[in-house]
Amino acid sequence: MSEPLVSIKNISKTFVLNQQQQVKALSNFSLEIYPGETVGLVGESGCGKSTAGRVILGLYNTDSGQVLIDKKNVHHVKGNDKKALIRDAQMIFQDPYASLNPRSTVLDIIAEPLEIHGLYPNREALRQKVYSLLEEVGLRKEYANRYPHEFSGGQRQRIGIARALALEPKFIVADEPISALDVSIQAQIVLLLQRLQKEKGLTYLFIAHDLSMVKYISDRVGVMYLGHLVELADSQELYEQPLHPYTQALLSAIPIADPDIEDQRQRILLEGELPSAMNLPSGCVFHTRCPKAMDKCRQQAPQFKEYKLKHFVACHLLEQGES
Ligand code: SF4
Repeated sequence: MSEPLVSIKNISKTFVLNQQQQVKALSNFSLEIYPGETVGLVGESGCGKSTAGRVILGLYNTDSGQVLIDKKNVHHVKGNDKKALIRDAQMIFQDPYASLNPRSTVLDIIAEPLEIHGLYPNREALRQKVYSLLEEVGLRKEYANRYPHEFSGGQRQRIGIARALALEPKFIVADEPISALDVSIQAQIVLLLQRLQKEKGLTYLFIAHDLSMVKYISDRVGVMYLGHLVELADSQELYEQPLHPYTQALLSAIPIADPDIEDQRQRILLEGELPSAMNLPSGCVFHTRCPKAMDKCRQQAPQFKEYKLKHFVACHLLEQGES
């Protein structure tokens, strides 16, 4: 197997709200992402998946642990290495409207990172580069002089993707890139991301809460709960044989297109609310809602271990040979 492009080791992240209150957003999060791969990251709102994306790109510091992208330590890199890292690792945001400056033209929005990095000092060459980026994401070059409010949600996301591609990155964190879009547009954006990946050899971390779309786009999928990665496996393996009780519950909620199978689908309903990240449960963080919780689960946190080939789970049941 090749070397990972992104290597995340035991990162933890706490947000201090005030002297009494802290939010533990990530706990000992580890993940390796290989060149050309798409890893999906799923979980309920507030599970820490977007925080993970931002920590990985160095937008947030960590309490502990390290992130390497192309062997550069994201949180300690300086000078030219830092510039190279910014070029190599970019982000696509959930809300394309909020992430695009409403007072700038599309030309200026897409050209900005190229100007910051001094890559196209000649204005005409810069303009031609923006035109070619617009074409790559399926937009006409005539759009370059328009403003973000003149576009539909799907077109704005295409502009956000063009901007992310401007510096020719190797790795992109796509943070819920389709959640704000109409269902009819979501598939178009996913197909665009897949085409660009193929053409440019991109590596993606695809953060989402729509499990069906994540299955479609991802080679591997990680499931997060309250800042912990609880399961990680090849996409097909995870969807066909989920081992963690939380993953099993999430997947049981996905409707099945075949009405005969849908009639027989057994949903696993989780009891109770998602606990607050300001006051994490003891032991296994899922024990307050887990239908299979045992005494041991309340006292001892399970280790995240490989129980089947390339299939990692954090659950005491697996230690006992059950699931
Ligand atoms: Fe459920 Fe216990 Fe496994 Fe946690 S460790 S998922 S509480 S069975």
